[in-house]
Amino acid sequence: MFWRSGLGVCVLLVAVFAAFELGPSIEPRQTLPEDVAELTASTWERFEQAFPAQAGCLTDVQLELVEDVPAGAAEYLVAERLIRIEIPTSPRRYVETLTHELAHHIDATCDGEFTIGAAFKDAQGIDSEVAWECVEAWEDRPMEQFAEAVVEYVTGDRYSHPDIIEVSDESLEIIRRWATEAA
Ligand SMILES: [Zn+2]
Repeated sequence: MFWRSGLGVCVLLVAVFAAFELGPSIEPRQTLPEDVAELTASTWERFEQAFPAQAGCLTDVQLELVEDVPAGAAEYLVAERLIRIEIPTSPRRYVETLTHELAHHIDATCDGEFTIGAAFKDAQGIDSEVAWECVEAWEDRPMEQFAEAVVEYVTGDRYSHPDIIEVSDESLEIIRRWATEAA
C-alpha cells in the first residue's frame, strides 16, 4: 500500500517537473537510434543554452533524417520549421550540421537578419546591399556565413568549412552579444 501511494507521489512530481520544462524542443519525425537521439538532445541543449538572451523567441523545431537532400548535406525549411539532414554521416559532422541548421532556425524565429544582420555583414566585410539569402554562391550568402559563425560560437570550433568561410573575431563577438545580452 505504501509503495502504491509512493508511486503516486512520484508520478505527480514527474508531471510537475514536466510542466516546468515546457521550453522549446527538437522533435524528430522518426524514431532515432539511441546514439543519434542522444547526440541530437545534447546538441540541442548546448545550442539552447548558448542563446539565453534569445530564449523568448526560440521555438520548437522538427528534425527529419533522410537519404537525400537535393541542395546539399542538409536544409532548413522555414515554413515548416523543419531541419532535414542527410545520412549516413559522422557524429562530428552531424553535430556541426545540426548546429548550422539550428542557426538558420534561430535566425528565422529571432529575427537575426533584422537585428544584427547589418552589423554582421559589416564585420564580415560584406557590402550592406548584399541580400541576406539570395546570392548565387553558397559561401557568399550572409545567412550562410551567419550560420557558420554560430557553429563556431556554439561549438568553439568548425571542422567542415573553415577554409571556405572565414569568420572574423568581430563577427563572433556580435553573435556572442546577441546570444547572451538582452537588447
Ligand atoms: Zn545553411
